[in-house]
Amino acid sequence: MSEKMEFQTEVSRLLDIVANALYTEKEIFLRELVSNASDACDRLRYEAIANPELIAGDADFKIRIWFDTDARTLSISDNGIGMDRDSLIKNLGTIAHSGTRELVQTLEEGAKKDVNLIGQFGVGFYSAFMVANRVEVSSRRAGDDKAYVWSSDGRGSYMIDETLKDTRGTEIVLHIKDEASEFLIEERLKNVIKKYSDHIAFPILLGPGDKGVMVNAASALWVRPKSDVTEDQYKEFYRSVSGALQMDEPWMTVHWRAEGAIEYSNLLMVPSMRPFDLYDPRRHHGVKLYVKRVFITDGVEGLIPPFLRFLKGVVDSEDLPLNISREMLQSNPVIAKMSSAITKKVLSELEQKAKDDIKSFENFWALFGPVVKEGLYDAHNHREQLCRVARFYSTHGDGLVSLEEYISRMVEGQDHIYYLSAPTVEAARNSPQLEAFAARGVEVLFMTDPIDEFWLPMQNDFKQKKFKSITRGDAELSKIKPLDGKETPEQKQEEKDSTDHLIARMKEILSLEVKDVMLSERLVDSPVCLVAPENDMDINMQRLLKKNQAYDGMHQHILEINVKHPVIVRLQLLAANDGAASQELLRETTLLLLDQARIIEGEPLKNPADFVRRLSRAIEKGLIAS
Ligand code: ADP
Repeated sequence: MSEKMEFQTEVSRLLDIVANALYTEKEIFLRELVSNASDACDRLRYEAIANPELIAGDADFKIRIWFDTDARTLSISDNGIGMDRDSLIKNLGTIAHSGTRELVQTLEEGAKKDVNLIGQFGVGFYSAFMVANRVEVSSRRAGDDKAYVWSSDGRGSYMIDETLKDTRGTEIVLHIKDEASEFLIEERLKNVIKKYSDHIAFPILLGPGDKGVMVNAASALWVRPKSDVTEDQYKEFYRSVSGALQMDEPWMTVHWRAEGAIEYSNLLMVPSMRPFDLYDPRRHHGVKLYVKRVFITDGVEGLIPPFLRFLKGVVDSEDLPLNISREMLQSNPVIAKMSSAITKKVLSELEQKAKDDIKSFENFWALFGPVVKEGLYDAHNHREQLCRVARFYSTHGDGLVSLEEYISRMVEGQDHIYYLSAPTVEAARNSPQLEAFAARGVEVLFMTDPIDEFWLPMQNDFKQKKFKSITRGDAELSKIKPLDGKETPEQKQEEKDSTDHLIARMKEILSLEVKDVMLSERLVDSPVCLVAPENDMDINMQRLLKKNQAYDGMHQHILEINVKHPVIVRLQLLAANDGAASQELLRETTLLLLDQARIIEGEPLKNPADFVRRLSRAIEKGLIAS
């Protein structure tokens, strides 16, 4: 009985976008359909390990492609797993992936023409509607007797009906649009298949009925020797495993075969664009597990560590049993061994890339650095290597630096790896806390990713040098000489004595605002700055937690003052004078300075109106005096 059904809303939207052909390269529909056919063969081959009768009598998987110029149809068929009625409805009437669904919504909300966005995810089967005004999918699930046909013109609804089909698998018939007639020409089809699907491991036969001629290499790309694989073949392989429609290319390709105690082949790639769901906690890594050329499953937990979850590709083991259940994989020791070796290999390739071409590495690091740094937090086995891969912006120059470079540039008397946490590199560069470090030529690393706040407290040191935040506790700069050579211990004591009274007064004034007021070692040009107490969280971390609402009430900070600054010098005089006018001016200026320190720290003012009033008054006084 024929039944009419509606597409899920997002599918209709997606079809709208697809039919209006954002893509210049419509030919990629064929890649998508061939890739689905190949997946269907992969899946049946896996099921047949436990259940061989599913493929009895027809054990050679293949994909057939042919066309009919008179009927203007193009057909793609496979003898893979096939779909029953429910699967047809679920797979071809809805979008299963929640991330894709959300993306379709974004596209609708204005960014419809954003080819960049849409290029990032595969529209898969629905791309058929770029070249066809009607699509029929006949399918018979392996092991079932009944077959079904799904058909649609891609406008809101589709029909489902029982049909007769004497072989298992799926046949897709496209009714080709007038403007897509090129896909009814043999040469054109052959070229497209060669271009996009050469790496497909099953034979793709082009020709009528049983007379098709194989047009692809039909051997798994990852087991071919590196020297036999061209750049273009890698690219197409990448596109097929990543599901990216176009534009994105692999930034790095790692292709190797591990031999020894355990044997496996690997073809792993790092994208050059950020997957839209990189931070989606439900996201799996994009590496497929094969056993002796048989696809087992994707996203195996434990195979690729979460901090490399942007990897795409294939790992093909020679040691795992073919009939291993997906549930057993996770706890299998072979998986753990492969994982550790794969991680080492990928990290060492990254290390090399950073050395060979830091400019290109910079792009990678901007996209995936925050993810890789997650490993510094939770992958202790790879810590050393991760520390060698990690790069940071710093006070020395505009480019990225490694920890090794940092250490090689440490100045005499410097014991720590100094860092500054800030929301952005730009905010970091403007921090008053940097002043004394600059005056001593001490390099400071900028930590601008949220994840930094988590790994830094756990990574005590690198090469015996401790990490130290410059916005928390004592800066410990006393052992390092200023570049201009001034400042003696006696001078210091003098400064301390002379500011005791001012500090006491300021503490009274700010008793509800800050935890303490102290003499600063880190300021040169600014009068004041805020820092966090030694055993407290860094200011940036407090801000982060606050943003995520997991935390309320900033810990009280310490206000540090710069005794050499003219404003502070004036305040010392005011503090020494008991007159009401002097005390009032001291109070107002102190509150103004605190707000100034808050602004530079990127913190909201408690009372902007008060701040503006105080500031106006100060300007007014300054103008009258001038
Ligand atoms: P994707 O392949 O990214 O999952 P598609 O829209 O291309 O998305 O396909 C949706 C689903 O339809 C597939 O995941 C698969 O389950 C099913 N499917 C598509 N083509 C075939 C086919 N030739 N044989 C069996 N199942 C298929």
